[in-house]
Amino acid sequence: MNNLYDLDNIFAKILRSEIPCNKILENEFALAFSDINPQAPIHILVIPKNPYINFYDFTKNASNKEHESFWKLVNDVIEHYKIEKEGFRIITNSGNNGNQDVPHFHVHLLGGENLGRMIG
Ligand code: 5GP
Repeated sequence: MNNLYDLDNIFAKILRSEIPCNKILENEFALAFSDINPQAPIHILVIPKNPYINFYDFTKNASNKEHESFWKLVNDVIEHYKIEKEGFRIITNSGNNGNQDVPHFHVHLLGGENLGRMIG
């Protein structure tokens, strides 16, 4: 585990079932749940179950199996909402410049309406 990882971040607490979440899907290495403050009709967070701080940490240090399971779950959520054709947006914020609030790697999957050209 990256020694800068904060074990008390909110997603770590969700993974330990210390606080609830609205689970959509999960697999061995990843969990998908609803964002508590949705920015679109569909706003799902997908997180790895192991402790990675951000995209860079995950991409650099996770195993092939974790990578495969993570992106498979993102695609499973896309299929769950049947938004393969109409489209969606995937965002990951990292660090101060990315305005990342929760220091456990996650992607936002947004959809259900036209999201505009970018989220400003
Ligand atoms: P970030 O800014 O780190 O990319 O996004 C963090 C996201 O986590 C935000 O969209 C925020 O609404 C969401 N969030 C923060 N606390 C909770 C929580 O306790 N439960 C859930 N489901 N989402 C949360």
